[in-house]
Amino acid sequence: MKKIGLIGGMSWESTELYYRKINEAVKHHLGGHHSAKLILESVDFHGVMEMQHAGDWQGTANVLIECAQNIERAGADFLLICTNTMHKVAPEVIAAVDIPLLHLADATAERIIADGHNKVGFLGTKFSMEDDFYVGRLKDQYGLDVITPNKADRELIHRVIYDELCLGKVEENSRVEFLRIIDGLAEQGAQCIIEGCTEIVLLVNQSHTDIKLYDTTDIHADVAVNLALAD
Ligand code: GLU
Repeated sequence: MKKIGLIGGMSWESTELYYRKINEAVKHHLGGHHSAKLILESVDFHGVMEMQHAGDWQGTANVLIECAQNIERAGADFLLICTNTMHKVAPEVIAAVDIPLLHLADATAERIIADGHNKVGFLGTKFSMEDDFYVGRLKDQYGLDVITPNKADRELIHRVIYDELCLGKVEENSRVEFLRIIDGLAEQGAQCIIEGCTEIVLLVNQSHTDIKLYDTTDIHADVAVNLALAD
């Protein structure tokens, strides 16, 4: 089994899900008392979040690079950044280490294409919805037609992610709003929805809607375990 490296803590609410899902998947595949070999570097999210919102992406890259180098030194075979948003600095992280990065947008796009979808709705932070590093990658590298919510709804989603979900708060009225937004994207032709923020599944999961959801936390953990167990 290969050793998985996780850069987590963004937020720890979703890193906890990664740890559980990765171990459950290893147990599912190998049975018995098997569990994952992994290294976790978990940041203090407060400072990272301040830098994100101040536009200091190089500052955030420096934090993640240090984590990635620690993880590499600790013997991990490959690396995951356990947040969609921080893939904005994935190129800097990739350049700073010799172990490969399992990119979350790639893992998600490959799953969606394998399932035969080409028009998708995307929910995430404003950084992920509005910058090119994520939605642009889905469009340019995978040919997906990606729809995002309108500006007011993007603001709402961003606020709920940082002020509620990243603090462990799950509010029923926010769930109602997210489901309204998901229905709207489906009415515009989205065949499925990417939950492109690793905390969204805490609020909305497949039991809440008939519209097909792609939970990026689940996909990332699953692909990581497949890679860890591959020959
Ligand atoms: N975990 C979130 C994501 O997947 C947002 C928190 C962050 O800024 O990293 O985008």
